[in-house]
Amino acid sequence: MPFDVGDFFIPLPDDLDASIVCPACGRPLHEIRLSGRVGCETCYFEFGSELQAMKREEFSRVHSGSLPESLDTLRTIINAKSERRRKIADALQREDYEEAARLRDEEAADDN
Ligand SMILES: [Zn+2]
Repeated sequence: MPFDVGDFFIPLPDDLDASIVCPACGRPLHEIRLSGRVGCETCYFEFGSELQAMKREEFSRVHSGSLPESLDTLRTIINAKSERRRKIADALQREDYEEAARLRDEEAADDN
């Protein structure tokens, strides 16, 4: 069915972005959005929802035919996600439900 992922992207005002920084590396959110690169691992946890939005933006750029600037970042995010999915599957296989639940909570926190 026809589906435009771009419809789901709502840009944040720049001044709001500038006031939000990663507590670990101090990288401002607007820089991450501009460069498409995060400063450290904590950025992923801090800016999970914004990175999700960037990913959707990336999709709409790809679909509109222009060259993606932050494809590596996008790939890193997707890899991190599938790595966690794999860990959850592993934990379930070991019947380590506590670990599986922890990883799921982590993922939910990223997606909120
Ligand atoms: Zn950081």
